[in-house]
Amino acid sequence: MQTFTTISPVVDFNQLDEPFLVAGPCSAETEEQVLETARELAKNPKVKAFRAGIWKPRTRPNAFEGHGGPALSWLIKAREETGLPVTTEVANAAHTEEALKAGVDILWIGARTTVNPFSVQEIADVLKGVDIPVMVKNPVTPDLQLWIGAMERLQNVGLTNLAAIHRGFTSFEKTKFRNSPEWSIPIEFKRLMPGIPLICDPSHIAGNRVLLFHVAQKALDLDYSGLMIETHPRPDEAWSDAKQQITPEDYAGMISNLSFKRKVIETPELINQLELLRGKIDGIDTKILEIIAERMDVVRSIGEYKKENGLTVLQINRWSDIFENRLKNGLSMGLTEDLIHQLYELIHLQSIELQEKIIRGSSEA
Ligand code: PEP
Ligand code: MN
Repeated sequence: MQTFTTISPVVDFNQLDEPFLVAGPCSAETEEQVLETARELAKNPKVKAFRAGIWKPRTRPNAFEGHGGPALSWLIKAREETGLPVTTEVANAAHTEEALKAGVDILWIGARTTVNPFSVQEIADVLKGVDIPVMVKNPVTPDLQLWIGAMERLQNVGLTNLAAIHRGFTSFEKTKFRNSPEWSIPIEFKRLMPGIPLICDPSHIAGNRVLLFHVAQKALDLDYSGLMIETHPRPDEAWSDAKQQITPEDYAGMISNLSFKRKVIETPELINQLELLRGKIDGIDTKILEIIAERMDVVRSIGEYKKENGLTVLQINRWSDIFENRLKNGLSMGLTEDLIHQLYELIHLQSIELQEKIIRGSSEA
């Protein structure tokens, strides 16, 4: 095994000439797990820094909250062995002091800390006069100003070696992502803070292994300056974020398959245009649902009328007329026969079912 002496690794975020690739486990679980992961990752010259969480902010209590201070020495050992600069998350003044004392090379502020200006300020106060690179994750809420505010608090105490990490945002709607990427926010961040490199954390955006590549490639296409990806020697056994971690071997495969040069032209203007159109679609869909609900109300009244007058639910001539008329109407609007057919079959079926329930006197109607 190759042993390196400490080479005082320096990272200058103002002068990155290669993609800044950070990898390592979500949490430092044991000294052996930390060293094993770091050794594997260090075989890949593209990896520029080693990460491991020591103070773990967990959404619910009683989950593994990290080993705290004692695990700092594992990180330092990993650096001594591999030469990789090491980074960990700090969430308050005490963490920051301990990490500085131990000699951690790069600090990061996590998403649950960036939301709180008091916490960010107490970290900034400890860092006054210290020349250390700091990465700031976006806040969990989709609030660009909070993210920028955290950067400004660090700049105000004299820090100049800063990077931003995009890790996605909590969203009320269920999406396929653990944290919705909301790409327009980091793009706007880049426009407003052009000097600060933007790094993507596909692990926390995706929340699973399947989407990881797609998110990483998208970030590179949008000209991000680097990636932070969680890696673990046995991901399924990880003490935190097991679903989203990959082995160092899979990581190496993924990095070699990513295209670092491909650029798509997704300027802020284009993204904003896309957001505008998506907003329109959302509005139209609401109207479609409202109109269907209104139609079902009328169907309900018809059902009650049929019940009172002893009429059958299905009156086939009426249905044939409706279908013919809607087909003609829809075709003249440029819709396909297939769409009109499927749509009306569904609407008609639901109408019949509702009327049947009314006639049977079911309480569901
Ligand atoms: C992490 O990087 O392990 C972490 C806790 O991230 P975030 O702050 O983005 O949730
Ligand atoms: Mn994690």
